[in-house]
Amino acid sequence: MHLLMLGCPGVGKGTQSKLLSEFFNIPHIAPGNILRDLVKKKTKTGKLAEKYIEKGELVPDDILVYIIQDVIHNSNGFILDGYPRNKQQIKFFFEIMRQESRQLTKVILLVADDDIIVERMLKRGRADDTKEVIKNRIEIYKKETLPILEMFPYSKIAIVESVGEEKSIHEEIKSLL
Ligand code: ADP
Repeated sequence: MHLLMLGCPGVGKGTQSKLLSEFFNIPHIAPGNILRDLVKKKTKTGKLAEKYIEKGELVPDDILVYIIQDVIHNSNGFILDGYPRNKQQIKFFFEIMRQESRQLTKVILLVADDDIIVERMLKRGRADDTKEVIKNRIEIYKKETLPILEMFPYSKIAIVESVGEEKSIHEEIKSLL
């Protein structure tokens, strides 16, 4: 099972990925979490990524290339949460999947209204969850991430409204897989 979890920042990708990861017993890989961890550990990559994360910008593609390659090579099944997020990343993703002879099972696209999303993020209160940075992240999502959806076959995309009970959203996702 090779799943991609896409959707606007704050839409609930992390929560739903975790539930799916437990249910299917496959790893949940979130580049955002990996990067935040590297920032905390003050590694070279972390220090580089920090500048982008705190502004709400995407980190340069080459920072994630090795991380993603490693994940796809070493795991038998995955939920990739928050990758790919732009044209370059999706090209790279398809290329690695082909090299590793992996088949994409489904792209889960979580959707919710902007005001719900902003409210959730402000409540979460992560360092990059300030009003100004959130606005930037949502703008980048609309400009760079949404357009890549047309690069997946229509039949691979499952759109789920991420509003209401976490458990019922989870059930709906499972029913579409
Ligand atoms: P959110 O989806 O709420 O933005 P994430 O934890 O997925 O939260 O991402 C946090 C930050 O990490 C992003 O704003 C960005 O700087 C960086 N990041 C995460 N995924 C990617 C990616 N695929 N490409 C570039 N940067 C990324």
